Amino acid sequence: MSEIRKHYFLSEYCIIAEERAKRPSDFAGSDETAGENSSENCLFCGGAEENTPLATAVYKNGNIYSDTPEKRVRNWNFRCFPNLYPALSPALNLPEQQENGLQAEPGYGFHEIIVESPLHGRKLADFSDSEISELMKVYRDRTCSYITREKIRYVSLFKNSGEKAGASINHLHSQLLALPFCPPLLARELKVIRKNERCPYCSIFDIEKASPRLIHKNSEWIAFTPYSSMEPFEVWILPEKHVSYLGDCSDEILFALGDVLKNILKSYGRVLGNPPFNYMFYQLLEAPEYHLNLRLLPRISINAGFELNTGTYINTVSPERAASYLRGDLKPEERGL
Ligand SMILES: [Zn+2]
Ligand SMILES: [Zn+2]
Repeated sequence: MSEIRKHYFLSEYCIIAEERAKRPSDFAGSDETAGENSSENCLFCGGAEENTPLATAVYKNGNIYSDTPEKRVRNWNFRCFPNLYPALSPALNLPEQQENGLQAEPGYGFHEIIVESPLHGRKLADFSDSEISELMKVYRDRTCSYITREKIRYVSLFKNSGEKAGASINHLHSQLLALPFCPPLLARELKVIRKNERCPYCSIFDIEKASPRLIHKNSEWIAFTPYSSMEPFEVWILPEKHVSYLGDCSDEILFALGDVLKNILKSYGRVLGNPPFNYMFYQLLEAPEYHLNLRLLPRISINAGFELNTGTYINTVSPERAASYLRGDLKPEERGL
């Protein structure tokens, strides 16, 4: 049973979920390259459906199915099921826990795994246009399925790729956590957004659509290295249309999102040699003022004492230089990385 604990005096939360420490020892601390080449004992591979909890949604040839205890759906395209070691529990009415005025509430919420291919070793960068567009629709569908549930205030949708980016199983997947609170990070942004006459993200779109930091642009989205990038090769993907969450995106917008995301992942592969990376959707259903965005972060630098102490990042590659590498303006021998 996990707990959502509040900070002593700030509007910040942490989730204490000790059960997650009991992950299979053969995945914890395993060597990344060993996992990459081996589908042996992989829980996420097609054919190993019995080894996961029952799937809540299985996407297959344009239809959605779910597993029953008697029958697991086979030959799927995308498969979603509750995390075997969830950080949050879907049980409602759990008892409150208090200690000497410190505040905690039961760890209510949902924690889902989205497996993005039945085949071991596939990468999003190698997906066809229609495959990646279908995946974006799955992201929209899963977001909408959780955001409207009782007590849920936020849906965190993200990918950890590679062990250094936090992936414990090396098979293409993303994760979704549906939370009973609005994360302070988004709440802080929203407060500032509401004070502005114009949406700051709409202004960012206008600045970056023709800046030296622009990497890729299509009919709906731009991808760029943000002006104050925290880390080398950080990329933001932003829609031109002001939409606040994935549920507001048409099929056309999602098709264009797949295109730009694939383009950036290919660039990462070309420039950085398939680095570990995270990407995260920032979205809010309850606040139409919010402007949906997707952020990618290759995990190639180490955050240490200074960053932890100050929340300030030292970035050794300027976003302008990073963008020129990712656009392919500079040849590999000129990279000097
Ligand atoms: Zn696998
Ligand atoms: Zn906007």
